This record gives sequence, structure tokens and C-alpha cells, in this order.
Amino acid sequence: MTMPLSAARPLVDRYGRHISYLRISVTDRCDFRCVYCMAENMTFLPKKEVLSFEEVETIASAFIARGCTKIRLTGGEPLVRRDIMDLVNSLGARIGSGLEELTLTTNGSQLAKHAQALHDAGVRRLNVSLDTLDAERFAAITRRGRLTDVLDGIEAAQAAGLAIKINMVAMAGVNEDEIEPMMAWAHGQGLGLTLIEGMPLGEVGIDRVDTYLPLRELHDRLARRYSLTKLSQRTGGPARYVHVAETNGVLGFITPMSHNFCESCNRVRLTATGQLFMCLGQDDQVNLRDALREGGAAALDRALDQAMLLKPKGHDFVLDRNRLAPAVTRHMSVTGG
Ligand code: SAM
Ligand code: SF4
Repeated sequence: MTMPLSAARPLVDRYGRHISYLRISVTDRCDFRCVYCMAENMTFLPKKEVLSFEEVETIASAFIARGCTKIRLTGGEPLVRRDIMDLVNSLGARIGSGLEELTLTTNGSQLAKHAQALHDAGVRRLNVSLDTLDAERFAAITRRGRLTDVLDGIEAAQAAGLAIKINMVAMAGVNEDEIEPMMAWAHGQGLGLTLIEGMPLGEVGIDRVDTYLPLRELHDRLARRYSLTKLSQRTGGPARYVHVAETNGVLGFITPMSHNFCESCNRVRLTATGQLFMCLGQDDQVNLRDALREGGAAALDRALDQAMLLKPKGHDFVLDRNRLAPAVTRHMSVTGG
């Protein structure tokens, strides 16, 4: 992602990294309860604590003014927030005026309904999370989702002209046996597939040590069976991509546990309540909601400078049987995936 030269006072942290990518969690709520992401009985935030769309837009504008070119809406499930298309439309209107790309990460359950409107708003790419193509397994992993809803959503999104990347959390003993079938299916449909290592975020419903699947080893195993060509495309995040000759598609590996990618990190994350987290795996944060509510635009701008001073050099997740607490206590649905 490039930094537009026009940006006044671009956001640069103490290690010289340009922050050009903002992920916004628009809600901590979700219609699924994926076993690796949430506990069965989650308590969600009172709605009054959640940023209004107006506040989200003000914060997004402050980032765009300072050179942020990419925004991803996530959650929780972004498409379950009421009137979400109002926000998508207003942010979409910024594309071409500082903002280069608006994307979403979604579980796909509501996608059939929104696909065309997302495209009309200027969204061109989506990440859809899907860990299995088996309906029963899908119901067990998501605890309450229906596979057909997601598959219908993917179909509608493709018909609307949206490029889709499937995100699959790869888990030993849960869906490891489906990695190759998923790749054949996704690539056969013209979809990218990215495998994600489970991260120790929040107390959830599975044993993270037992299900941890090191993707580096998986990559090496796949490399013995398929012709994998490393691609240079990089996102500033933990993903590495290869082209698979046999299936003629792109396979990504997100390896937060086994690979250090922090030196190129270009992103920060805004929670639904306006906390700005500088790193998924650390607790450093700045409260942009309070800055905005108490001091207006000037205070918000100063808070962004403060955030740049706080962005840590990197993170270090540890999965340790002797340590019962997760590495970071907040769930992925709070910080936004
Ligand atoms: N609800 C949307 C979805 O599922 O795509 C967006 C939010 S979700 C938190 C974003 C991504 O984070 C999903 O791809 C999900 O699989 C992934 N995720 C959630 N918890 C995770 C964890 N503990 N480790 C790794 N990935 C996780
Ligand atoms: Fe919901 Fe996404 Fe978390 Fe699953 S991964 S529970 S769909 S927020």
C-alpha cells in the first residue's frame, strides 16, 4: 500500500513504519459463535458504548487525512450491525479522495442480501471466513451457522462482481483433512484461499494447544505434493502467498504464531467502542472515542500522534500448557480480525 504524497503529517511510528491501513470493528456482536473465536455464552457490549456511524466516519476521515489509504470493516460480524450499508456507502464515497480501498471481512451469513449493494458502494474485494464445506462440521464450528447461507452469499457476491478470498482457520483434528479439498473447491470457483493459524485470543471453546496446526510445516507438506511458486504480493501483514500450479489459484498462509512479520506492519485496529489497538497481540491502546467526545477533531488528531508513539515493535504469542490464560484476554471479535 502506498502513502499518498499529498497526506499532511503522515502517520509514522517510532520504527519508521507508515500506518496506511485501518481496520474498524463496527460491532462486537455476531450471529455465529465460532469455537476458536468466542465462548458459547458471550456477553456483548451495551449498544450505547458502541461508536455511532457518525463517530466512525469522523475517525476514518482523520485517518484518511493523514494518509491512510485502506479501510477494512470487520467485527464481530459487520453485516449484522443495523443499517451497516449507510456506513459502507458513506465510506465508499471517499474512494478516490484519499481512500484507495474499502473492504470487509465477513462470515458470509448475510452476504446474499448485501452483495450487490456492497459492489454499488465501491467495495471490490471481500474476505469470507469459511472453515469447512461439511454442513454438520460447519454447524459444530460456528455453533449456530448454516453452511448454505454462506455458500449462497459467496455465489451472490461473485455474481455482483466482488473478488473473494476465503479465510480458513486451520485446526489440527478439526478441519485439517479438508485443507486440500477446500483448496480444490476455492480455486475451482476462482476464489483465493488463505489459511490462518489459530491465535490465543480470549477464552473460547476449544483447546488451542491441541488444535494448533503449524502452517510452516503444512506448507512444506503441500510443497511436496504441489508446485508452489512464491508470490511477491505482500499486504504489510502476516500473510504470505503462493501460486498453486495444479489448481491454478492463490494460497495464502497467515502465520502469526510461527513467523515474524511485525517489521512491515502497516495497520492499526479500531474497536467498536473506539479503542485504537496498535497491535493484535499487545495491549497498547488509545481511546479515540473519549478524545473525540471530549476534545473534538483537534484532540482526535493529537490522539493519533500519541498512538504512533505507542505502536510496539512487535508481538510474541506463546502457546503454553503451563499458562492457562490466553496470551491476550480480549477476543478476536473485540479487536476485529
Ligand atoms: N465475523 C467476521 C468473520 O468471521 O469473517 C469478521 C470478524 S472475525 C473475528 C475475522 C477473522 O478472524 C475470521 O476469519 C476468523 O476466522 C478469524 N479468527 C477469529 N478468532 C481467531 C483466532 N483466535 N485465531 C485466528 N483467527 C481467528
Ligand atoms: Fe463471529 Fe467471525 Fe468470530 Fe466466527 S470468527 S464468531 S463469525 S466474529
